[in-house]
Amino acid sequence: MNRYDAVIIGSGIGGLVCGGILSKEGYRVCILEKNKQIGGSLQTFSREKEIFDSGVHYVGGLEQGQNLYQIFKYLGVMDKLKLQRMDEDAFDKIIISNDQKEYCQAQGYENFIRRLADDFPDEEAAIRSYCDKIKETCARFPLYNLRTNGLYEEKAEVLTEDTCSVITSLTGNTKLQAVLVGNNALYVGKPDETPFYIHALIINSYIESSWKCINGGSQIGKILARNIRENNGEIFRNTEVVKIETQNGTAVYAEDTHGKRYYAHHFISNIHPAKTMEITHSDVIKSIYRRRIRNLPHTISSFLIHIVLKRDCMPYHRHNYYYHREGEIWNLADYTDDNWPLGYALFFPPSAKTGAYADAMTIFTYMRYDEVAPWQHTFNTVNAETSRGATYDAFKKYKAEILLDCVEEKFPGLRNCIQSYTTSTPLSYRDYIGNYDGSLYGIAKDYKDPLKTFISPRTKVRNLFLTGQNINIHGVLGSSISALLTCVSLIGNEKIVEKIRNA
Ligand SMILES: Cc1cc2nc3c(=O)[nH]c(=O)nc-3n(C[C@H](O)[C@H](O)[C@H](O)COP(=O)(O)OP(=O)(O)OC[C@H]3O[C@@H](n4cnc5c(N)ncnc54)[C@H](O)[C@@H]3O)c2cc1C
Repeated sequence: MNRYDAVIIGSGIGGLVCGGILSKEGYRVCILEKNKQIGGSLQTFSREKEIFDSGVHYVGGLEQGQNLYQIFKYLGVMDKLKLQRMDEDAFDKIIISNDQKEYCQAQGYENFIRRLADDFPDEEAAIRSYCDKIKETCARFPLYNLRTNGLYEEKAEVLTEDTCSVITSLTGNTKLQAVLVGNNALYVGKPDETPFYIHALIINSYIESSWKCINGGSQIGKILARNIRENNGEIFRNTEVVKIETQNGTAVYAEDTHGKRYYAHHFISNIHPAKTMEITHSDVIKSIYRRRIRNLPHTISSFLIHIVLKRDCMPYHRHNYYYHREGEIWNLADYTDDNWPLGYALFFPPSAKTGAYADAMTIFTYMRYDEVAPWQHTFNTVNAETSRGATYDAFKKYKAEILLDCVEEKFPGLRNCIQSYTTSTPLSYRDYIGNYDGSLYGIAKDYKDPLKTFISPRTKVRNLFLTGQNINIHGVLGSSISALLTCVSLIGNEKIVEKIRNA
């Protein structure tokens, strides 16, 4: 019988980073991925030869010595990545209805302060306090800083701080408040819910340094996969795991849809924790735990328009735009049929040939799963019985045109630059990633009850571990740190963290 040291279910960034670490440390790993393409949300697709990202538009922390740089350097990814540094004076520009200004969030803390103080000269002290607060908060997270011997107590205090209260306590200037959280779609910021540490860990990484992947984020997955194979690991695509069989509280094998069994000493699941519990047959996992995990609320899903642009029509930007309607920055997810969309983001994917003009752009906004519920039993297939059908196409077109109208208010003439477009909805994400509702970032964190959404990488099945965005925080950085946490738990010591820090 072929027995691996570790079988990893799912090849999202979390699963691949686990595979990369463990295979480099001498474990014989096997990754099982249900899709044809590896990478989960790192996947790309192309239309008219333009490459689009499905779920990674920019990444932070990749300058020499920064956290993601060190993880990727240790994994042999850094020297192979094709990156473009975003505009140092503006990785994100915040734009607001009824306001002609573009407010810049810049890279480097002093630059960030200077650029915002140009627009808010009386608020420099508040902007500085905001930056200090972010840095102080981030310093409390040991793994984020690639530190060993960290204690839970270090961060316990900040887990219950909420983003909205922290921001409003720093400045009474409502425009500045809106600009500081203007890109809160990065974490689905909600008042009375989103912990400040989520805001801090994510925004800090982009202020430290912001990057786009040239020709898309799937290259991260491909490089990791190549390195895993070089380290004797195996990756099987089109392999959906439907069962994790256990005996006496120990996982024995994972089984795919064809009944093929994959035996291992350790199992890591990169899929949603509730889905993992659904396929894990064991009495040691209590129904109360299964229920708790299943009932945790998720972040909202999204609707995206992927546009192939006419040649030499739309300038290429090395920054993103985040738009919101004045006064609505905290309510973007609470839209109604009448006022959707309350905000959107624009991303410009760079290709190797991109020059002064953009070849493509993506418009992103929120969409609740219930809007596509009428088609929830359909799939993206040519099979007439289960295909999504003409009403779904009409729905997507209707929504796309409303969103384009909204974007044209700030970018008049955009429609004239469109060669063609496609859209993706909560159902696209549900089916590509294999979650329940196409949720953007998985389980939503809540500062009022931090332990409720805390999910340990360990499970009651002693050799079954969890990883990915739901275990720590989301994003390429968050899920990579989640993978590090999982590997530390599996290996049983923190030596790996030192190796990464010193890579
Ligand atoms: C629209 C959108 C935009 C985003 N933008 C950014 C961004 O700009 N920057 C950033 O850093 N992050 C961004 N994110 C978030 C980021 O992409 C995710 O947090 C991260 O990629 C999640 O990684 P993961 O390890 O949790 O795995 P996932 O990406 O969730 O992958 C899980 C994998 O498991 C596979 N799988 C599921 N079930 C099974 C099964 N039964 N058997 C085998 N395989 C299975 C899936 O096919 C998938 O490949 C964005 C996300 C979305 C949706």
